[in-house]
Amino acid sequence: SKWVYSFGDGKAEGRAEMKNLLGGKGANLAEMSNLGLPVPPGFTITTEVCTWFYDNGRQYPAELKDQVAAGLTAVEGIIGATFGDADNPLLVSVRSGARASMPGMMDTVLNLGLNDITVRGLAKRSGDERFAYDSYRRFIQMYGNVVLDVDHHHFEEILDSHKRDRGLSYDTDLEASDWQAVIEGYKDVVQEALGRPFPQDVQEQLWGAIGAVFGSWMNQRAITYRKLHEIPASWGTAVNVQAMVFGNMGNDCATGVAFTRNPSTGENAFYGEYLINAQGEDVVAGIRTPQHLTIAGRQANGSDLPAMEESMPEVFQQLDAVRLKLERHYRDMQDIEFTVQQKKLYMLQTRNGKRTTAAALKIAVDMAQEGLIDEAEAVRRIEPKSLDQLLHPTLDPKAERKIIAKGLPASPGAACGKVVFSADEAERLSQMGDAVILCRVETSPEDIHGMHAAAGILTTRGGMTSHAAVVARGMGRSCVSGAGELRIDYKTGVMTVRGEKIAAGDIITIDGSTGEVMLGHVPTIQPELSGDFATLMGWADRFRRMKVRTNAETPLDARTAVKFGAEGIGLCRTEHMFFDTERIIAVREMIVAETEAGRRAALAKIAPMQRQDFVELFRIMAGLPVTIRLLDPPLHEFLPNSEEEMDEVAKAAGTDIQRVRHRALQLHEANPMLGHRGCRLGISYPEIYEMQARAIFEAAVEVGKAGQTVIPEIMIPLVGTKKELDILKAVIDRVAGEVKQSSGVQIDYLVGTMIELPRAALRAAEIAQSAEFFSFGTNDLTQTTFGISRDDAASFLPDYQRAGIFEHDPFVTLDTEGVGELVSIAAERGRKTRPDIKLGICGEHGGDPASVYFCEKVGLSYVSCSPYRVPIARLAAAQAAL
Ligand code: ADP
Ligand code: MG
Ligand code: MG
Repeated sequence: SKWVYSFGDGKAEGRAEMKNLLGGKGANLAEMSNLGLPVPPGFTITTEVCTWFYDNGRQYPAELKDQVAAGLTAVEGIIGATFGDADNPLLVSVRSGARASMPGMMDTVLNLGLNDITVRGLAKRSGDERFAYDSYRRFIQMYGNVVLDVDHHHFEEILDSHKRDRGLSYDTDLEASDWQAVIEGYKDVVQEALGRPFPQDVQEQLWGAIGAVFGSWMNQRAITYRKLHEIPASWGTAVNVQAMVFGNMGNDCATGVAFTRNPSTGENAFYGEYLINAQGEDVVAGIRTPQHLTIAGRQANGSDLPAMEESMPEVFQQLDAVRLKLERHYRDMQDIEFTVQQKKLYMLQTRNGKRTTAAALKIAVDMAQEGLIDEAEAVRRIEPKSLDQLLHPTLDPKAERKIIAKGLPASPGAACGKVVFSADEAERLSQMGDAVILCRVETSPEDIHGMHAAAGILTTRGGMTSHAAVVARGMGRSCVSGAGELRIDYKTGVMTVRGEKIAAGDIITIDGSTGEVMLGHVPTIQPELSGDFATLMGWADRFRRMKVRTNAETPLDARTAVKFGAEGIGLCRTEHMFFDTERIIAVREMIVAETEAGRRAALAKIAPMQRQDFVELFRIMAGLPVTIRLLDPPLHEFLPNSEEEMDEVAKAAGTDIQRVRHRALQLHEANPMLGHRGCRLGISYPEIYEMQARAIFEAAVEVGKAGQTVIPEIMIPLVGTKKELDILKAVIDRVAGEVKQSSGVQIDYLVGTMIELPRAALRAAEIAQSAEFFSFGTNDLTQTTFGISRDDAASFLPDYQRAGIFEHDPFVTLDTEGVGELVSIAAERGRKTRPDIKLGICGEHGGDPASVYFCEKVGLSYVSCSPYRVPIARLAAAQAAL
């Protein structure tokens, strides 16, 4: 079989569509070659080799050696140099590349093919000894670190002590002879660490590097990243072997990274950074301060270092042309890497660029308006969950703030929290419920867990494309990078700036949209959801079939949800209206009452408040449908606990505390979630539901008099049999008749049920004879289907996920196979009885995009979710319908 695919010289065996086989980097190198862009030639060893490698005890398929040799020969032919040749050596880079980009996860080795002999050939042919030895020392350092696993600091110490001895401060001050001395030191380090010399055989170098790339697929950093991003280990990585081009050959050389549009704002402007006379990762490593590509970029950031547009205008023009060509071809914003060797431009990578949600929206809307993509594609481009980022708070402009430093606005949103200096500490404190700001000189892949745990990230070194910036944008964390005035001392756990000392645990606020760092807590405000957001949501709404409602019972939640585009209330949990400190006494009084008369007396106190709740809600929802669930939670939850509470209740009910205590004991349940709750309460004490129904109808009449039509949808919880529903529906119908009589107003309403017990799902055909709508209460349905208590699952769910029993937490993402089958069955059987039955979902799953997708496939009429997830559900529902 074919394990190796070549590219270069204006053609390639691969294509962009072959990402699964060639990895993202390899597929796009092939695509750029096919486009005729200047790509150094090379070849890609496929991801199938990686899979084969791990399936076969870390061996390679037999044909691989010959195919690699042939690939190398082809590269030699194009370049006109020979791998390992003493006079005219070909050098290559060995680069990893998985299907999904995994920034910084796997390390690239540059300048491979150098040894004590070929370095002399390189020096002679380039006429530049310094360049040759600089490249060789980079190679030993990278290869030593990545492949031979010799710790970084050994190499750094040698370089530092050499600089100290010679009184040199910058790498650029070192001459060829300096590098030769450093190289000898490096080789000694390797010899000492490994007990054998640095490999001089170029074939051994090459296969060592290939093995290291495949090996790195299973290193801890890669495993962590995959876990966070749900990338299966089975995908594997490809290896790219590519002829080197040199950005470190002098001042007409450079290396850089760029985005075809601004990744923070989405503005259609070239955005990037470069370094003259540098190689590879120098730009992102934060060792030297990178320069801007464009004059506009330089000015916007107040830098006096010349932009590439100024220092290398011809090359910049070429690069700008490549930018337009790539965007037109890929029809998406690209993140590119390039190198300039003696004024000639080479493209080393392109991929769809990571961006903030605000940028994603702007780019999608702009590209649709530019005609690059259509509106459906624009809607598809936005990850629904990412909208969450836009709902993040920004700093209140009126709030006082003490700015202590300014860095780069690397990832937007304001964050406030305790200062921590290590990723582990960030994780530890956040698990204890603290918001933290992770403060680092710079970040590396080892810090990812801490970045994930932090509310915000602050670094003192590195640009807009530094590791911290890229990862924070991807995670939606706010980030300020390169705040150079701050000095972090990890040892003492103190950060200083202009005489100000900030210790671990102190509170700071960062604004990732401006780059400002502030002392203390600065108040924040919610963003306006207009502009591109509104445009894109408008397009999404056109493609959407399902309605999106919200779960809300307070006026604040209802208003927020309407602002976010909710088209009704799918779940109003009346018990939340009962927990109010003022009402709870009356509620408890009702619960502990021993007679119907006692209960009615207590209910009479609650009724006017309950009516007012509904009046307010109906007014806010202004004619949109409102589904109200009658009292659901276990009686148990309302019981008075302390002596004080019992005393209060006794007084209110005009009885003695002894009786209250006795009654509370009587009502105590061993398993309340499966106990006296939901419609079972209504069966035992119909007067409770009667009061609630009356409050609903009277509220509807009152609001109706003001000219608003309300058609309340009354929902009975925890129904398992048609009989339960029938008994309670009769109570509701009777009350409706009474209110109609007394008010003289016609009342329209629906009575339906939650489907949250497996029996209800199975008997849906029968239940639909009485129910005018079903709402899938998938929180309880998940609980009752799995027999897993949602309140107790946290103690063992992680084990289940680790053991691969659950891919996702079933309380977050609907178990479409089991719980989902019950939903499908109920939907189908319900429709058979009542073809126009309204079907909705009101569990947490209503705001989870994967679950929303399932709801669309089952043909539900609407999903209902918490107010802040309404925009997410709207977009997810549109994508599901597309
Ligand atoms: P990553 O996946 O971490 O971005 P890359 O494989 O893209 O790693 O390599 C990092 C950098 O190394 C590139 O951006 C480029 O600057 C440099 N590089 C890689 N291959 C070559 C090459 N053949 N010639 C010159 N520079 C290279
Ligand atoms: Mg890297
Ligand atoms: Mg790269």
